[in-house]
Amino acid sequence: MILFKRPDDLIDFIQKKRKSIIKIGFVPTMGALHQGHISLINKSKSENDITICSIFVNPTQFNNPNDFEKYPITIEADIEQLELNGCDILFMPSVDDIYPENFQKNNFELGYLDAILEGKHRSGHFQGVCMVVKRLLEIVNCDVLYLGQKDYQQCMVIKKMATDLKIPVEIKISPTIREKNGLAMSSRNKRLNETQKESALVIFEVLCFLKENIFEINIDDLKETSMEKLIAKGFDVDYLEITDEILNPIAKAEKKQTIVALIAASIGDVRLIDNMMLNNANKAE
Ligand code: AMP
Repeated sequence: MILFKRPDDLIDFIQKKRKSIIKIGFVPTMGALHQGHISLINKSKSENDITICSIFVNPTQFNNPNDFEKYPITIEADIEQLELNGCDILFMPSVDDIYPENFQKNNFELGYLDAILEGKHRSGHFQGVCMVVKRLLEIVNCDVLYLGQKDYQQCMVIKKMATDLKIPVEIKISPTIREKNGLAMSSRNKRLNETQKESALVIFEVLCFLKENIFEINIDDLKETSMEKLIAKGFDVDYLEITDEILNPIAKAEKKQTIVALIAASIGDVRLIDNMMLNNANKAE
């Protein structure tokens, strides 16, 4: 694996590689890598000639300074995992590399996506996400961008930005990788103590409960019971929402519709998000 720290070095390297016909896959991350990230690396490796992973804890997407300061950093273990899994290039820029003094800030038109769920509860978060992803895409110049469904709304936001700005990149979304007990893998799980980790299983339990009962129990009652389950385990719930495919809340479940449940909740000072497709109308029977 080749490690690049300076954007210009990576840009040069890619320009040279581009002289032959190659396909480049890109997996942007904030590090503290786990199997969720590695699943994206593996997918990219199987579909491209070169796989680039970036590790950059992006300050502009943290609305909570405490969350930024406490974000886990495990660089040595990350490099080891990437090498073990055959990643070709690791890009690890500094904040000044990504946001130099002359950096031009865009205002991204995200419409309702910026005002609901994560957008509502983390003011400015998606502007920061778009800022960094746009900049990274300019540097890595990839053909395919790999994202995780774990961050469902983020996938929609990045797709919208890429479409609106006509960025020529294909976006592929991979399923959420979970621990055996169902807990969605997340870098933030490293900040949970054993008791909190145990309590956090309730998020997956609630999502499964919703999936089992979405056509049996009305949505208001489902949401009320789910909230009670989360609160009973000590969670402070930002939102628990049941929506259609494009995140519009639904009042009634219909079988011909794609239905998604999304949860954001904190335990102690760790905020977790998760989601599950309760009904997939696009899936062939
Ligand atoms: P992060 O390092 O949290 O910014 O995540 C980097 C990428 O990995 C994003 O596209 C995430 O959606 C994805 N990701 C994070 N956790 C998981 C997971 N458990 N399963 C699949 N993808 C994930």
